[in-house]
Amino acid sequence: MGQSSAPVPAGPAEPAMETLVSALRGKAIRPGDDAYDAARRVYNADIDCRPRLVVQCADVADVIHCINFAREEGLTPAVRCGGHSVPGFGTCEGGLVIDLSGMKGIRVDPVRRVARVDGGCTWGDLDHATHAFGLATPGGVISTTGVGGLTLGGGFGYLTRRYGLSCDNLISADVVTAGGRMLTASATENPELFWAIRGGGGNFGVVTSLEFRLHPVSMVYAGPALYPLEKGAEVLRFFGDFMAGAPRELSAFFAYLIVPPAPPFPEHLHGKTLCGIVYVYSGDLEEGERVTRPIREFGPPAFAVGHAAPYPAVQSMFDPLLPKGLYHYWKADFVDSLTGPVIAGHVRYGPEIPTVNSAVHIYPLDGAVHDVASGDTAFAYRDVNFVHVLAAVSPEPGPMPRYREWVRSYWSALHPHSAGGAYVNFLMEEGDERIAASYRGNYARLAAVKKEYDPANLFRRNQNIPPSA
Ligand SMILES: Cc1cc2nc3c(=O)[nH]c(=O)nc-3n(C[C@H](O)[C@H](O)[C@H](O)COP(=O)(O)OP(=O)(O)OC[C@H]3O[C@@H](n4cnc5c(N)ncnc54)[C@H](O)[C@@H]3O)c2cc1C
Repeated sequence: MGQSSAPVPAGPAEPAMETLVSALRGKAIRPGDDAYDAARRVYNADIDCRPRLVVQCADVADVIHCINFAREEGLTPAVRCGGHSVPGFGTCEGGLVIDLSGMKGIRVDPVRRVARVDGGCTWGDLDHATHAFGLATPGGVISTTGVGGLTLGGGFGYLTRRYGLSCDNLISADVVTAGGRMLTASATENPELFWAIRGGGGNFGVVTSLEFRLHPVSMVYAGPALYPLEKGAEVLRFFGDFMAGAPRELSAFFAYLIVPPAPPFPEHLHGKTLCGIVYVYSGDLEEGERVTRPIREFGPPAFAVGHAAPYPAVQSMFDPLLPKGLYHYWKADFVDSLTGPVIAGHVRYGPEIPTVNSAVHIYPLDGAVHDVASGDTAFAYRDVNFVHVLAAVSPEPGPMPRYREWVRSYWSALHPHSAGGAYVNFLMEEGDERIAASYRGNYARLAAVKKEYDPANLFRRNQNIPPSA
């Protein structure tokens, strides 16, 4: 990646900057430093911001110094954990990046089945730590995604139908607020803040530590089944019906995909566009083989396998397709069910998926997610059954305008049949109305919590909820 030639906007005076830098344990990186270009970049190569300063925080004290400095000097902070925010909220133009990714401590208590996780950990870090004890908590399906961003927006993956959203498994969190104070948020301490951070994203402060409930998960039964494109409508109908009756131990997502040129896929399918179901059963392995057999037999498929695998291996199986530095454009929505018009939209646009890195995924959002009422946490869409994401991903910027058009047309065909809002962690910068729609009945309460903990809207580089008037 080349050094940007654009000037960095003017920032605080040098003495103030020196005072901050001398107070830090972590690294402060400024324009002109050798490390600057790498430090300013995030996962999505389409984001090209030039912050005034990137602080790679070593500890909570560094975070407090950064927040106080940003507030006093009028700099917008951007908070980064895994850096996966597709709109690029982990960096900013002319502001201060609070990069937590060096804060990686994890303590697992196998007796209480609880993990205490520093704010910079990825799901790969956490799965690795808990797997040693035969335990896990629901996380995302790519191991390099940050625990911080994913959990604060809600978070779902292969264990969600059984154990709920990532945020449903949060017991407490340490939050450094806009005022530079560290608070603990839990059911008993600062409960409104605790309610808000379970879905409300990074609006309320910097979360330096998260405490999660863990569950006994070690080996899982998993595999993909791929089907010819002409079976798309039938597979979508089968997927919708099958998931409605499936036990909670099963998670599966529907996908349109270009088959990667790698095992386990046979050579004759490499590079072919197909549809498929990727499934993971987290209960008894023999039962998993039995429960998932209809997926492997439907159609018949063009290819299907199933096998036992360690949970962290399944959690990282798609990592090679999605390294840092690709160009991303995503759109998404929640949907109640896979009705005729929804299926028709997928069948029309899904087969045009442009690259092997791109993704059309339909994730189930039922089971344990529905056990929690929509008003019990900030994550509002507890009554829908699916979330779909349409993601164009390219190694080159050149074709992105065409790919963006494909995503927009696809999304426009589906949106009228959606539940109205989207998962905030799948939103790009799509405007205030879209954010409000995504929080629906919880929005006013979130704005009130924002007023209490961040009245000047210091933390605004996110799916922003301005403080109520
Ligand atoms: C390849 C890929 C796969 C994904 N898969 C899934 C999936 O399976 N399930 C799912 O639910 N989502 C998934 N997502 C979406 C993901 O949840 C969001 O992109 C999320 O924002 C990523 O978190 P992060 O910490 O990596 O991002 P970052 O860019 O580091 O952070 C994004 C924003 O979150 C907030 N934030 C992050 N950490 C903190 C913190 N410690 N304190 C305060 N605020 C913080 C800040 O506002 C920050 O700007 C995926 C994204 C990608 C790119």
